[in-house]
Order: sequence, then C-alpha cells, then structure tokens
Amino acid sequence: MLDPRIRARLVDAGAAVTESVPLSTLTTLRLGGPAHYLADCNTTETLIEVMRCLDAENVPVLVLAGGSNLVIGDDGFAGVVVKISNSRVDVGGGAVRAEAGAGWDDVVARTVAAGVGGLECLSGIPGSAGATPVQNVGAYGVEVGSVLRRVRLLDRSSGIDEWVGPEALGLGYRTSVLKHSDDAVVLEIELDVRPDGFSAPLGYRELATSLGAEEGERLPTAQVRDQVLALRRSKGMVLDPDDHDTWSAGSFFTNPVVPDDRLPGVLAAITEHVGMDVRIPRYAAVGGTKLSAGWLIERAGFVKGFPGDDAAARLSTKHTLALTNRGSATTADLVALAREVRDGVEDVFGVRLHPEPVTVNCVI
Ligand SMILES: Cc1cc2nc3c(=O)[nH]c(=O)nc-3n(C[C@H](O)[C@H](O)[C@H](O)COP(=O)(O)OP(=O)(O)OC[C@H]3O[C@@H](n4cnc5c(N)ncnc54)[C@H](O)[C@@H]3O)c2cc1C
Repeated sequence: MLDPRIRARLVDAGAAVTESVPLSTLTTLRLGGPAHYLADCNTTETLIEVMRCLDAENVPVLVLAGGSNLVIGDDGFAGVVVKISNSRVDVGGGAVRAEAGAGWDDVVARTVAAGVGGLECLSGIPGSAGATPVQNVGAYGVEVGSVLRRVRLLDRSSGIDEWVGPEALGLGYRTSVLKHSDDAVVLEIELDVRPDGFSAPLGYRELATSLGAEEGERLPTAQVRDQVLALRRSKGMVLDPDDHDTWSAGSFFTNPVVPDDRLPGVLAAITEHVGMDVRIPRYAAVGGTKLSAGWLIERAGFVKGFPGDDAAARLSTKHTLALTNRGSATTADLVALAREVRDGVEDVFGVRLHPEPVTVNCVI
C-alpha cells in the first residue's frame, strides 16, 4: 500500500497514478503479473520529481518504457512502476535530441524524413529512445554507442540531473553501466547524424548484399531504412500485434563470447556434433571469439517453432533466437523454455548462453 501522502505528491508532480495494473499490457512479450502502482510520467519534469520522491521515500521502483526488453514474473511487481512517456524529438544542427520516452523507431523515421542519415540500420527496433544506451542497442552493424553524443541522466542517489558523454556509460556489446542497475534514469539523449542524407557505411554483409551494394558503401538513408525493415519483418523482428512471432523480447540470448583458452574445446565439440565441413560463424570480439547464439541453438536441435504447436511459449517460427508467447503463455512457461534451450546448448557444445532481456521477479 502506497502511503496516500506519497501518492498525492506523485499526482501533484503531474503523474497519472493507477493501481493493480497488469504488466502483461505493457510488455511486448505480453507477460508479467500486476504492478501494485503505475505512475505514468509524460514530461521530463514530472519524471524527475516522481523519481526523486520515490527514491527519497525508499519505495521500490521499476523503470519501464516500451517494455520490449523485460521479462517480468507472474507475481508482478510489488512497488511503483514508473512509466517513461516524455516524448519530445528535435532534429537539427547535425544532431537529434529525443526525450527518453520517445518511440525509438519514430526517432529514426524523423531523421530519415528530415534528410539526415546515420540511424537507418537501427530502424524497426521497438522500445524507447532512452533505453537505447541502456543495452547499447545494435543491429545490422551499427550500435547506438557509435552515434551517441551525450545522455541526460538523473542520478538516483544524489538526485543530480546532468548531461554526460558516452565515455561515462561503459558501453559494450548489449550492455552499459545502466543495464541491471538502479543507479540512474535516462531523461534525454542526443545523437550525431549525417547531414548529407546518406547512410552510415554498410557494415553488415547480409544488408549490403540484399541492397546489391558492397560493404563500406553509403546509400540514401531512406533506401537503407526500407531494406532493414524488410529484413527485420522477415525474421519477426518488427512488432506486429497479429503476428505471435513478434510477441517476444527480440533476441532472447546474447551471442556468447568464448575466451581464447576455451575456444579449441568448444570448436571440437561443435565439429563433433555438426561435422567437419560446416562453416562455424565466428567473429573476433573483446575477450575472445563471438559465436552465433541462434546458430548454436539450431544446431543443438532446437528448430524454429520448438517445442511444437501445442506449446504456449515457443521459439519463433521465423527465428530461433526469439522466444515467443503464442497468446496464453505465462512467464513460468517462458522461463522453462529459456532454461531448456540454454541447458541444451550447454550440454551439447559446452557454451553457456545468457539472456539479453532484463528479468524482474523471475530467474532464468
Ligand atoms: C521484436 C523485437 C526486436 C528487437 N530487436 C532488437 C535489436 O535489433 N537490437 C537490440 O539491441 N535490441 C532489440 N530488441 C530489444 C529492445 O527493443 C531494446 O532493448 C530496447 O531498447 C528496449 O527499450 P524499451 O523502452 O522497451 O525498454 P524496457 O523494456 O521498458 O526496459 C528495458 C530495461 O531498460 C531500463 N530502462 C528503460 N528505459 C530507461 C531509462 N529511460 N532510463 C534508465 N533505464 C531505463 C528498464 O528499467 C529495463 O531494465 C528487440 C525487442 C523486440 C521485442
């Protein structure tokens, strides 16, 4: 029960406060039990005020924006879910500035419409602008960290609100100091864009080939955006309420990075299982060699649609890396599937997969 005095302060700050809200209505997996309270904040000032108040009163808080990278337990969240809904976007002066709650793909679309480039490879990624630095979102050879100019953060222990550069965020592959942390809230972001209207150099072979271009080439930004959206749709990676393959959190596991000393053993296990003649997708990465989680999942025997038509939680029928809710799944169903896939891959290849989404009140 939220102290009525605290609730009144949230309302005074401009938040819309509701009780017993099913979090399944706020996540792209459409999973998650009830939040005791939801405080929807549609301006930056309200968001700051609400966070400062709840933190000062030691109320448990879950920050949620688009809900596209969250797995929330069936028991929900016993505290206040702060929904980030501030949404102003400005394009100009070689940059785009977006409030945290702006829809990320709207931000990309706005830059393309304004004739500036650089974000087109990140088209179609669900969720909010403010969450993009949290896991350094990336796709088709571009990570948001490569275009991030600065981020406006609210430090939750001091209450200080200030802009910081990307070097303060510890950005890495699908991670940053903000991920799995309650230290700060992103209020706004500012990104560099290319004023000539051409894309960033194409750095992903599948995309370049599908455009009939060479890697490193730059094409009109709208052309690249259209192609990225088409490729993503074919993999169920653009949200579509009518397509259960998109009732997901995107890629469920990150691509594992195998340290050099373990690589020979892992490659031997793969060769033994799939045969000598197969090309194993692998890339040099910080800390070792990055393997493809989707490839390993499939080679370990988990085919698209696993475990079959009757299951409420299944692998996407388009992409083995996405775990999906077919409509009646619970978080417990999804967690059981995630464990089965993770353990199956580890048993066969000796490689442990780690979930990409943030888990709340559940353990994978
Ligand atoms: C179909 C599909 C495809 C996807 N494809 C990709 C992809 O290609 N590449 C990729 O990187 N990701 C992808 N994702 C994952 C997801 O879209 C991104 O991680 C996205 O940035 C999450 O944004 P969100 O607003 O939905 O965050 P939420 O799910 O609401 O939150 C995720 C985490 O970030 C925290 N958070 C959110 N906003 C803030 C904020 N303002 N300040 C501090 N913390 C915050 C939350 O507390 C939570 O811990 C995909 C997801 C889906 C469903």
